[in-house]
Amino acid sequence: KGGPDNLPILKYRLDDYDSPEKEELVYRPKLVVLGSGWGSVGVLKSLKYGDYDVTVISPTNYFLFTPLLPSAATGTLEVKTLIESIRAIVNRLNGHYLEAYADKVEFSEKLIRVHQLDKVTGEMVEFYVPYDKLVVAVGSNSNTHGVEGLNHCHQLKTAEDAIAIKKKISTILETACLPTTTDEERKKMLSFVVCGGGPTGVEFAAEVFDLLNEDLPKAYPKLLRQELSVHVIQSRSNILNTYDERISEYATQRFRKDDIDVLTNSRVVKILPDEVIFNQKNEETGEVELKSLPFGFCLWSTGVAQNPLAKTIVASLPNSQRNKRAIETDSHLRVIGAPLGDVYAIGDCSTVRTDMAEHTVDLVRKHIIDKHLKNVQSTAIITDDDIKTMKLTYSEIFELGHELSRRYPQASEALNVLNELVPVYDVNNTGHLQFDQISKLLKDIDSRVTSLPATAQRAAQQGKYLGKKLSKLARSSLTLSANEILDGDIDAAVSKPFCYKHLGSLAYIGNSAVFDLPGYSFVGGLIAMYLWRGTYFAQSVSLRTRVLLFLDWLKRGLFGRDFLP
Ligand code: FAD
Ligand code: MG
Ligand code: MG
Ligand code: MG
Repeated sequence: KGGPDNLPILKYRLDDYDSPEKEELVYRPKLVVLGSGWGSVGVLKSLKYGDYDVTVISPTNYFLFTPLLPSAATGTLEVKTLIESIRAIVNRLNGHYLEAYADKVEFSEKLIRVHQLDKVTGEMVEFYVPYDKLVVAVGSNSNTHGVEGLNHCHQLKTAEDAIAIKKKISTILETACLPTTTDEERKKMLSFVVCGGGPTGVEFAAEVFDLLNEDLPKAYPKLLRQELSVHVIQSRSNILNTYDERISEYATQRFRKDDIDVLTNSRVVKILPDEVIFNQKNEETGEVELKSLPFGFCLWSTGVAQNPLAKTIVASLPNSQRNKRAIETDSHLRVIGAPLGDVYAIGDCSTVRTDMAEHTVDLVRKHIIDKHLKNVQSTAIITDDDIKTMKLTYSEIFELGHELSRRYPQASEALNVLNELVPVYDVNNTGHLQFDQISKLLKDIDSRVTSLPATAQRAAQQGKYLGKKLSKLARSSLTLSANEILDGDIDAAVSKPFCYKHLGSLAYIGNSAVFDLPGYSFVGGLIAMYLWRGTYFAQSVSLRTRVLLFLDWLKRGLFGRDFLP
C-alpha cells in the first residue's frame, strides 16, 4: 500500500506476469497508456515489441472505428465490423489490459489512481498503478451546453450508442405500423431530429434519410413517405461549418433539395420527452423566435467537452496549465508542468501550446549562439539583459523564423506571414527590430496559430509519432552520447517535434460525399469516399475490419439495411 490515498500499489501483480514472455518484460520501463481509442491504438501499433512493459487502462475493451459509426447506427454496417478487441492489440506487445477508469495522476510518485466497479461483488475497487512513462489519450465527452433534458436524446460516441440507436429506430418503425397507432401519433413518431450540424450529425441525418427512402418502402410498405421527416438543428448559418465555405453551402443546399429540414441559426433551449424547444434567429431582421419541434427520435451531437480525467490533470498543475478545455503539451507532446518526459497527452483531450513570445530571450539567444558562436560551449556569456538590448535585422529575423518553424511545426503556417508582419512592427522604418518589438511580433504569431482539430486523423498521427518516439527513447541510452542530449532534452535528441499533416476532411451527405482536401474541395461519389477513407485510415484498420466492411457493403447492396439484432 502507499500513495497519498494509501491504496494498494499494483507493481508486479498485474494480471498475468506468470507467462515466461511477460516475465522477461518485467524489467523493462513501465509504459501505461490511458484510453483505447485512436490516440492509444496509434501508440500501441507503432511501438516496437520488447521496449516496454505495457499496460493499457480503459473502461472500453475495444477500439472503435468512429468515422463509420453513423452507418452502423442506421443498419448499413454491423457495429461489430467497426470494433477491434483492445486485448488483441495489447497482446502483440505482451502487455496488460485493465478494464477500469483512471481518476488521477500523482506526478511526483509516478502513480495513477484507478477505479472500477467489481461487477461480481458490486463493490468499488481502487488501487494505484505505477508508471515510468505515461500516455494520456482519454478523448473527450459530448458537450451538453447546459441544455436540460438530454436524457431524452441519444448520443453517438460508442458502439453501445450505435446499438441503442438501431434498436430505437426499429422500435419506432414497428410501433408506427401497429393498427392502434393514430395518423397523428405516427407522424410525430417518424420525426427524426438531429441537434448539431457537424460531420457526425450530418452523416447520421443523411443515413437516416437514405434509410427512409431506400429501405422503408420495401420493408415497411405500410408507412407512407410523406409521414416521415428528418430535421437538423444547427446554430450556424450552414451545416458542416468547419469545412470549406463552398462545401458547407453545397451541403446545406443539397439537404434542403433532398427534403431534409435544415433549421439554421437555431439554438436548442430544452429537450422535452417528445419535443425540442429552440430559439431561431431570423438572419435578415435579427429577431429571435422560440419554436418547438416534435420528435420520435432525437440525436444530440453538438461538439466536444473535456473528459473528467483531463480536467483533473489540468487542475492539478495550476501553475503550468492555462487552457481550460484541454491538457496543454509542448511540441514534443509532453504535458507542460509534469516532470519533463514522464507524461504525454495526445488526441482530443490535448492541445499543443505555442508560446514563442514567452521564450523570446532564449530563442534569440539560441539563434545568436548557433549563428555566431558555434564553438562556444557555455551559453551564460550572453546575459538576459544583453539580449534585451539587441536589435535584429530583417534577414536575421527571417532566419529566426525558419528556426522557429522547425521547433514549432504547428506554427509554420502562421510564420509564413512573417515578411508581411516584420515591417508593421518596425514602426520607425529602421530596418531592424528591437527586443520588445520581436517579443510583440512573436505574441502576434502565437495568437495566429490555429489549434489542432479534434479528429481521428490528428489523434492517430500523434499516436503514431509518440509510439515511434517511445521506442527510440527506450533505446536511446545505448545510442546517444551526452553531447547529443542538449539541455537534458532527450526527446528533442531522438526525434523532431510533432508536425500535423492535414489530409483533408470528408463527409457523407446522402449517396454522395463532400471532400475538403488541402488545396481543393469537391463532391464525389460514394465509392470515392470509401476509397479515400480507406487510404487515409489505411494503417489504422486491421485486415479483419476490411474484410468485414466489404462483406457488410456487399450485403447491404444485395439485401438492403437491416435492423435485426
Ligand atoms: P477516443 O478515440 O475517444 O478514445 C478515448 C478513450 O479513452 C476511449 O477508449 C475511452 O473509453 C477512454 N477513456 C475515457 N475516460 C477514461 C479514463 N478516465 N481512464 C481511462 N480511459 C478512459 N474523426 C475523423 O478524423 N474523421 C471522421 O470521419 C470522424 N468521424 C467521427 C464520427 C463519430 C460518430 C464520432 C463520435 C467521432 C468522429 N471523429 C472523426 C472524431 C474521432 O473519433 C475523435 O477525434 C477520436 O476518436 C479522438 O481520439 P482519442 O484517442 O483522443 O479519443
Ligand atoms: Mg485514445
Ligand atoms: Mg476512438
Ligand atoms: Mg485523447
